[in-house]
Amino acid sequence: MKPLFSAPVVPAIIEWRDDEPWSTVYQDVYFSKKAGIEESTAVFIRGNDLETRFKQPGNFSILETGFGTGLNFLIASDLFERTSPSGLLHFFSVEKHPLKKEDLIRALRTYPGLPCETLIERYAPWTHGFHHIVLSPRVILTLMIGDVSEILPLVRGRFDALFLDGFAPRQNEDMWSREIALELARISGPGTTLASFTSAGHVRRALIEAGFAVEKTPGFGTKREMIRGSMPGTPRRQTPSHAVVIGAGIAGASTAFSLAKRGVPCTIIDRQDKPAREGSGNRRGVFQPVLAASPTPWSRWTLAGFEYLCSLLRSLNFPTNFCGVFQAAEDEKELQRMQRAISVWPAELGRILSRPEASRVTGVDIPFPGVLFPGAGFLSPSDLTQRLILQSNAQTLYGQSVARVEKMDSGFRITTAQTTVDADCLFYCAGTGTPQFVDAPVSATRGQIHYIPPWNETLRTVICADGYLIPGNDFWTAGSTYSRTDTTSSPHIEGQNEILEKLRNAIPDVPHFETLLDGRVGYRISAKDRFAIFGQLGDHAFLSTAHGSRGIVSAPLAAEVIASLACGMPVPVESDLMNHFQNRYAIKHKL
Ligand code: SAM
Repeated sequence: MKPLFSAPVVPAIIEWRDDEPWSTVYQDVYFSKKAGIEESTAVFIRGNDLETRFKQPGNFSILETGFGTGLNFLIASDLFERTSPSGLLHFFSVEKHPLKKEDLIRALRTYPGLPCETLIERYAPWTHGFHHIVLSPRVILTLMIGDVSEILPLVRGRFDALFLDGFAPRQNEDMWSREIALELARISGPGTTLASFTSAGHVRRALIEAGFAVEKTPGFGTKREMIRGSMPGTPRRQTPSHAVVIGAGIAGASTAFSLAKRGVPCTIIDRQDKPAREGSGNRRGVFQPVLAASPTPWSRWTLAGFEYLCSLLRSLNFPTNFCGVFQAAEDEKELQRMQRAISVWPAELGRILSRPEASRVTGVDIPFPGVLFPGAGFLSPSDLTQRLILQSNAQTLYGQSVARVEKMDSGFRITTAQTTVDADCLFYCAGTGTPQFVDAPVSATRGQIHYIPPWNETLRTVICADGYLIPGNDFWTAGSTYSRTDTTSSPHIEGQNEILEKLRNAIPDVPHFETLLDGRVGYRISAKDRFAIFGQLGDHAFLSTAHGSRGIVSAPLAAEVIASLACGMPVPVESDLMNHFQNRYAIKHKL
């Protein structure tokens, strides 16, 4: 793994000079207090002609070098929300030294009326790499933490506009080099525009050499000149006009939701008579990142997915219990592994609890220490699936098995026993049905869970050990079995006993239940290496599957990735991570 992801993030050191944020590292001001909004609007909004361009229907993507206080982002997103008739604004911004939250608050609340509270609420301590904040149903921020020279090569896709805002070139040459100009050209297409407050000759020349047409225009306030530029050519949009999503579980629902946000109408087809009838059908499910002792692809992915999910849930106001998840370390080796893992991630993500602390925090007697993920928790995956489908306004065809998929001149024809649907792009989110459509090394594992009567009133967090226990007012949820050979479709007493026995090791007062409790059987679909499979399959066909028992954190971000790819928008995940996931297996479309 690249050193970037394991190096600690150094936050910005701000000095407040007359209430203006001043960078002690770069010896320059972030913005002027008196006219920050006016300057940002004059340079970046007008410099990119956004007042006119936002009025056209469709999605829009912006890349900024230097997130700073987020002022440019807030001004652009506010304008988009107010004036754009449809589509999504996806704003990517690079930042090497993120502001501490208290500095961000002080900087942004200077401006009465600036809609900054949601950004403040969702702003967190960041690790290196890409992070997502869902600001509203129509605006997503991908904050890319790291040096611009390391981050830009990880960006894939084409942007509509670029904001170049990295402190004065004299103070900060690294941000304005020829290599950066070439990277900016790589992620631009015909019609991509750029604007910057600087008109320094070497910056202009580097951009021109990289292929941009650049002009000097009058600067704002006391600045004589600024630059604006564009990549020659006419922009092309490729938003699909209709998508079919096969599968109405969490992967399919998230995909329809991400497509709908980008203005793509969807039809969802599922063989079951209702959504979330298979792997996503549990009434309770745990969400948490899976942190390893180094930034492995899987821990980076689950952390990004977890952050995106939390932000999405908040933006949807979806009923979620952020009660925390305690993971017990049942032996010394496990505890050491957890300690190593916790030490490489920000302290806010997780902390080690001693044995007495574990009992106090969880509310039940636990004979083990472990790690607490305070921001994690549980929700109803089946309700989330239904909510995302509802929100997507998708047409739904339930109780219909796909019999045939044909490639047509302009897309696909999908036939079920009852109907035929044409689509210009196709998404396989079919869970255990995946092998019907693609040749992928996936298999199903049976999982049995039970809804059990609470036996004390003090359980406060989710407890994960060899099995898990989820609190709740009316019932608790205990899971789970893992079997590749058991084919029984309903819960059985042996499975129930197995779960409770496993749990009893970490929670000794788990009672014995003689009768079969309410429960459920689902099948997790996983790849050989247990990591999710998502991405583009071929022309206009996409896949999201094998999220295993991590569907809640993995499927929504995978949906963002494949919906972005389908709409020709920049990919919200680092390209090395995408390559890792995409290049593991040669997956063939069975057409
Ligand atoms: N756009 C910001 C706003 O709206 O508040 C102001 C940006 S400020 C003028 C420049 C930002 O660029 C700073 O936050 C700084 O930390 C960041 N920066 C400087 N050099 C960088 C580098 N090499 N890589 C990434 N970010 C860098």
